[in-house]
Amino acid sequence: MYRLLNVNGRAALETETGWHDLAELSGDESLADPMAAITRHHELHDWQARTAGRPADGTVDDSHLLPCVPRPAKVFAIGLNYRSHAAESAMELPPAPLTFTKFPSCLVGPHDDIVLSGTTVDWEVELVVAIGTGGRDIARADAWSHVAGLTLGQDISDRTVQLTGKPPQFSLGKSFDSYGPIGPALVSVDSFPDPDDIELWCDVAGERKQQASTADLIFPVAELVAYLSGICTLEPGDIIFTGTPDGVGMASGRFLAPGEMVESGAAVIGTLRNRCVAAG
Ligand code: ZN
Repeated sequence: MYRLLNVNGRAALETETGWHDLAELSGDESLADPMAAITRHHELHDWQARTAGRPADGTVDDSHLLPCVPRPAKVFAIGLNYRSHAAESAMELPPAPLTFTKFPSCLVGPHDDIVLSGTTVDWEVELVVAIGTGGRDIARADAWSHVAGLTLGQDISDRTVQLTGKPPQFSLGKSFDSYGPIGPALVSVDSFPDPDDIELWCDVAGERKQQASTADLIFPVAELVAYLSGICTLEPGDIIFTGTPDGVGMASGRFLAPGEMVESGAAVIGTLRNRCVAAG
């Protein structure tokens, strides 16, 4: 088991009392980069175990946390992957994973601001999967062994940009800078009682908007890894936003406003707290 953090750009392992710098702990400076740590995910279990009895290098300070996967080569995102959300969007269930990208420059840390691009910006809490061992044509039965860990994400979406034109285009409306908060930690798969049944929730301005379990995913994690790897070679550090349940703002016409807090949580993983701010 491990919990990988990005503390001021350096890989760190989180414990109950704080964090341990991975390069210091291991004596291997090449593990300082969180992307290198993800590529060597099999080693992290052992390094996490070796934190036992050692004083932490620091306490977890929200303002120091950067994206736990800072520079993925690919960011996949899946639309309409919960029946409840497809229904509220008045969309048919997709016959295969409806896939778009969030360009990696949209990623921010778990407590960073969301810079609103307009008046129709929406929240979407999502489980995010990080690939640890790449591959092509990964079998569904092998898929979990390719996953370095799971984290939480917000697929922040400018609905006007997303839905302008027919057919709509998703990628740019969901790729404004700051529209991809992830974190707080990348948590190893064996940390979860059942990695296919993780409770997610999202509060906006203190009001519960979304609550669901990933057990309701139409295309669960293993199927997404198998499907995507049948088309693209997956590389260590690639991430997949797995889709959002019902309760987004678009369904009721209520969107994010400057000053509002978006709080997102997932069992075992932790919480994102992102304040909305006006652009400029
Ligand atoms: Zn989404």
